[in-house]
Amino acid sequence: MFNSDTITKFQSTETPFYYYDMEVLRQTLQACHDASAQYNFHVHYALKANFNPKVLDMIQSFGFGADCVSGGEVKAAIEHGFGKEKVVFAGVGKSDKEINLALDADIFCFNVESVQELHIINELAAAKNKVAKVAIRINPNVDAHTHHFITTGLDENKFGVNTWQLTDVVEALRASKNLEFLGIHFHIGSQITDMEVYKSLCIRINEMQDWFEDHGFQIKVLNTGGGLGVDYYNPDTNTISDFESYFKVFKDFLNVKPGQEVHFELGRALVAQSASLISRVLYVKNGQKKNFLVLDAGMTELIRPMLYQAYHVIENLTQNSSPTTQDLKYDVVGPICESTDCFRKDVDLPESFRGDIIAVRSAGAYGEVMASGYNLRERVQSVYSE
Ligand SMILES: *Cc1c(COP(=O)(O)O)cnc(C)c1O
Repeated sequence: MFNSDTITKFQSTETPFYYYDMEVLRQTLQACHDASAQYNFHVHYALKANFNPKVLDMIQSFGFGADCVSGGEVKAAIEHGFGKEKVVFAGVGKSDKEINLALDADIFCFNVESVQELHIINELAAAKNKVAKVAIRINPNVDAHTHHFITTGLDENKFGVNTWQLTDVVEALRASKNLEFLGIHFHIGSQITDMEVYKSLCIRINEMQDWFEDHGFQIKVLNTGGGLGVDYYNPDTNTISDFESYFKVFKDFLNVKPGQEVHFELGRALVAQSASLISRVLYVKNGQKKNFLVLDAGMTELIRPMLYQAYHVIENLTQNSSPTTQDLKYDVVGPICESTDCFRKDVDLPESFRGDIIAVRSAGAYGEVMASGYNLRERVQSVYSE
């Protein structure tokens, strides 16, 4: 990802910053586009993974739709040229203001997460003399076998409607004149790499669509959500997620009826490998038990390791280019006044010095978007390969 010219450029650029490799992004989007198009599957990009304007513009140029989880994201999607007929809006706590914004924008579909929300959308749509299109987000009780902080499809999670509440849902739908039922929606978690999990999801979706049809509701859209993972351990040798296998599971196991559309909402898999967080070593602290590399980037720029115990490859780009030294172990930490502000403990790195450029890889998803101003830090900058 980094040739010597790039590293030289980094040396003279103020750190920290996000470095976007636009070619990696393009190739990833192309692979996803090609793998989904062969089955006529529709992909909506989950904006919350990364809403950097240049990233959004490139994703939009591939014709993907947008999956939003706030009014702000609905607005951003439309501003960046995602067609309103390709915008969906999920979220367990949509405010009246956000629902009104989405109604005014005539989005494709609300992914509704409770019976109460159905009533509210119906009321707000009625006040505008509109009909809101809705899909029901069902909690399928499928274990995503991922970190418990990013699992969303179990009965104990706050997201979606549980199956024992579905009779209330169909009653509410029947009684709501300003709602048009489109279909069913699922999203079971994130960073899922085991395709068996998606097979289980397909089986649950098939059962659920039978249930709705038995109750007199025709399903036009099967929305399977997102969650496809990336290889955080091998960003250079396994850069692009296996979109072929992913979509094939749904092709093989989802019972798609004539006229139905199948929708996907991918975030991480489309953007994670396209960016690295680039920072400098400020200080090297050699302790009796521990060596610390203190970087000029911390949890305010990339919080995933601290929030989800997430693993990222960490490289010393300055010393890697002249591999004369033996590796040492360092705890790689940030400057923020929190003990948890540590990217990783016991990282094997060549002997490192003040001023060395450090890359934290695979930071394109849930990185820049989660940056904060804690400690009154300046907003992290972005640099692009083109
Ligand atoms: C976050 C989210 C996604 C995308 O998840 P990834 O793991 O980034 O693919 C899709 N759908 C919904 C409803 C989400 O909240």
